[in-house]
Amino acid sequence: MPPILIAGAGLAGSLLAAQLARAGYRIALHERRADMRRVPVAAGRSINLALAARGWEGLRRAHATNLVLHQALPMRGRAVHERSGAVHMQPYGIDADEVIWSVHRGQLNQTLIDVAADAGAELHFNSRLDGVDFEARRARLVDENDGSVRELKFEVLIGADGAGSAVRAAMEAEAPLGQHTDFLDHGYKELNIPPRGDGAPTLDPTALHIWPRGGHMLIALPNPDATFTATLFLPHAGAVSFSACADPAAGRALFARDFPDVLALIPDFDAQYAAHPVGVLGTLRCPRWHRGDRALLIGDAAHAIVPFHGQGMNCAFEDCVELLDLIEAARRAGGTDWQQVFARFEQARRPNAHAIAEMALENYVEMRDAVADPGYQLRRRLELELARRLPGHFLPRYSMVMFSSLPYAYARERGERQRALLLELTAGKSSLDEIDLDAAAASVAARLPPLNG
Ligand SMILES: Cc1cc2nc3c(=O)[nH]c(=O)nc-3n(C[C@H](O)[C@H](O)[C@H](O)COP(=O)(O)OP(=O)(O)OC[C@H]3O[C@@H](n4cnc5c(N)ncnc54)[C@H](O)[C@@H]3O)c2cc1C
Repeated sequence: MPPILIAGAGLAGSLLAAQLARAGYRIALHERRADMRRVPVAAGRSINLALAARGWEGLRRAHATNLVLHQALPMRGRAVHERSGAVHMQPYGIDADEVIWSVHRGQLNQTLIDVAADAGAELHFNSRLDGVDFEARRARLVDENDGSVRELKFEVLIGADGAGSAVRAAMEAEAPLGQHTDFLDHGYKELNIPPRGDGAPTLDPTALHIWPRGGHMLIALPNPDATFTATLFLPHAGAVSFSACADPAAGRALFARDFPDVLALIPDFDAQYAAHPVGVLGTLRCPRWHRGDRALLIGDAAHAIVPFHGQGMNCAFEDCVELLDLIEAARRAGGTDWQQVFARFEQARRPNAHAIAEMALENYVEMRDAVADPGYQLRRRLELELARRLPGHFLPRYSMVMFSSLPYAYARERGERQRALLLELTAGKSSLDEIDLDAAAASVAARLPPLNG
C-alpha cells in the first residue's frame, strides 16, 4: 500500500505524522527545507509562540507533552506597559493554574520531527512538492539539492505545507477553489531583547508583555535563555508606519517616543532594526479543503489567520486531533472511506476555523487598544468574578479559546452574548465595588444557559 504522504514538516505536518505513525499508518513526510535538527534554518515567521490547551492536547496525542514541557515557559498574564511607565498585570486565567506557554518555534518543530521519526514516519528533507496528479495519486517532488525530480505514489495526500501551500495550488490548478487572502494593513518586525549583564531577564519572565499604543503595539514573549522576543506591530503605510519608519533612525525615534523602556534594553537596536524584515499578515479564506478522496489541507494551508489570539498553531494542532479521530473511527468501522473522512473533517472544522479567524482579528484591537481602557479592565474583572461564582455557567471568551476545547464557533457565539451582558452590568460603573455582584451573578445565571460540555 502506498504511504499517506504529508507535504510539510512544519508544526502541523510533523505532529500529524507522529500521531498517525504511532497509530500504525505508513507515513512519508516531505519537507522542502533541510533537516532543521542538523542544519540551522531560519525560523521563518515568529521566533516564539504561545501554546495553549488545544495545542497541548495535540501534543498529548503524539506522546510529546513531557518533551515540550521542558522547553516551555508559563506566562500567567499580560503585563500591560502604559505610556506613563506604569505596568499592571492582567491575569489570563480564573486561577493561577491557567497559564499559556511560550515555546521556541524552531525547538518545538525539531522536537516534533524527532517524535515523528521515533514513531516510524519516513522523513524526506529538501524534498519540495511541486505538482500533483490527483487522478493517478502521484506527487511530483523536487530535490532541492540537485533539482532532480521524482514521482511518488500516495494513498492520500495531506497538505500541511503552510499558507503558501503547493498542495492547495495543485487543487486550484485542477478546479478553482474560490480562495482569497485578506492581507492586514499592519505588518510586524521582531527584535531580540538580551538578558542583563548578570544573565537575568530584563522583564518579568512569567508574563506576556504588551505596550498598547492605540493604532499600534509592541509585545514581548520570554525565552528559556532569559532573552525576550519583542514583536512590533505597525501599519504598513501612514504617519506611524513601517514605511514612515523604514530606517533605524526613524525606528529609534518611534521607540524613543512610544517604547523608551524597551529601547533602553536593546543595545544593538539599529543593527537589529535594519536587519530584521517586516513580515506580512493575512487571513486565508478557502472554501474547499479537500479533493475527493485524494487530498486534504490542514493548518495554515487551509486557514492561515492573523496571530493576535496566539491560536494559529493551536488550531492546526486541533486539526490534527480531529483528523486522527476521524481516521481512527473510520478504521474501526471497517475501512477508511477517505472521501467521507475529509468531508467530515471539513464540516467539523470549517465553522471553527472561521470563528477563530474572526476572533484573532478582533483581538488585535483588544491588544493594541482596549487592554489599556478602564471600561475593558472593569469588564475583564467582572467576567473573572462571574466565572468564579458561576463555574459551569460562565467562562470568559478568552478562557474558552485558550483554556478549553469548546469549539471556537461556540466560544465566539457565546462570547457575544456574554459581552452584551457585561456591557449592561458595567454601564455607568467605574469599579467592581459599585456593582452588586450577587445580583449580577443571579441575572447572568438566569439569562444564559449552562456552558456546553
Ligand atoms: C508573527 C506570528 C506569530 C504567531 N504566533 C503564534 C502563537 O503565539 N501561537 C500560535 O498558536 N500560532 C502563532 N502563529 C501562527 C503559527 O505560526 C501557524 O499557525 C503555524 O505555524 C501553522 O503551522 P503549519 O504546520 O500549518 O504551517 P507552517 O508552520 O508554515 O509549516 C509549513 C511547512 O511546510 C513546508 N513547505 C512549504 N511548502 C512546501 C512544499 N512545496 N513542499 C514541502 N514542504 C513545504 C515549510 O517549509 C514548512 O516547514 C503566529 C504566526 C505569526 C506569523
